[in-house]
Amino acid sequence: MIIFQHVTKEYNHHGTVALDKVSFKIQHGEFVSIVGRSGAGKSTVVKLLIGEDKPDKGQIFFGSYEVNKLKPSDMPEYRRHIGVIFQEFRLLTRKTVFENLSFALEVAGRPQREINEFVPQVLEMVGLTDKAKNFPTELSGGERQRVAIARAMINRPDLIIADEPTGNLDPLNTWEVIKILMKINELGSTVLLATHDKEIVNTLGQRVITLEDGKVVRDEEHGRFLIG
Ligand code: ADP
Repeated sequence: MIIFQHVTKEYNHHGTVALDKVSFKIQHGEFVSIVGRSGAGKSTVVKLLIGEDKPDKGQIFFGSYEVNKLKPSDMPEYRRHIGVIFQEFRLLTRKTVFENLSFALEVAGRPQREINEFVPQVLEMVGLTDKAKNFPTELSGGERQRVAIARAMINRPDLIIADEPTGNLDPLNTWEVIKILMKINELGSTVLLATHDKEIVNTLGQRVITLEDGKVVRDEEHGRFLIG
């Protein structure tokens, strides 16, 4: 379970309140979209949840962790529970697709036996078995994002966070990515999707948390994207 309890984040030097007493709970296995205009606070939710930044007030829990209290030395272990997908893919350009995935296992200290087993599994899941030896520059945007999803999945995290994962993709590739996220959710992982894409959210028909100016203004079980 994820809990945000009265979470406030200010960027003082700019006088900006990025999140203002934000509270919500997400149960294991949910598919939740966080929506809002640019600047509403979506990425700040992601940054605080993955421990990249700390709240000024409030508490954040994920499973047995109180995230706001984690020390830098706790982070590698904590982050292994979470797979993150970003708009700009963030792949290692000098490594092949296979190496991008095996590297994620190596840094987590996994044995070679698991690398040989897990890499082909996730490649098959995202439909890129035949691209294992290619470099990211040899792939389309949609294929790169599918590699990033495979990498996020490979350590079998409890939670997948996708921050504007389709921001750089055309409609066809957008739907490929969303279908994979739905599949991941059906297989049991919690999925948190931050997006400003109305069509995706309205088609998903899942829970929607709407942010406006750093505040939760709606939280609906089968929500729609209502911002103009
Ligand atoms: P979104 O992801 O919904 O576009 P963000 O969470 O990125 O919104 O930003 C929320 C607000 O916080 C915005 O006003 C943004 O300008 C501000 N903000 C985000 N990160 C920083 C930062 N590192 N320094 C100063 N202001 C920031």
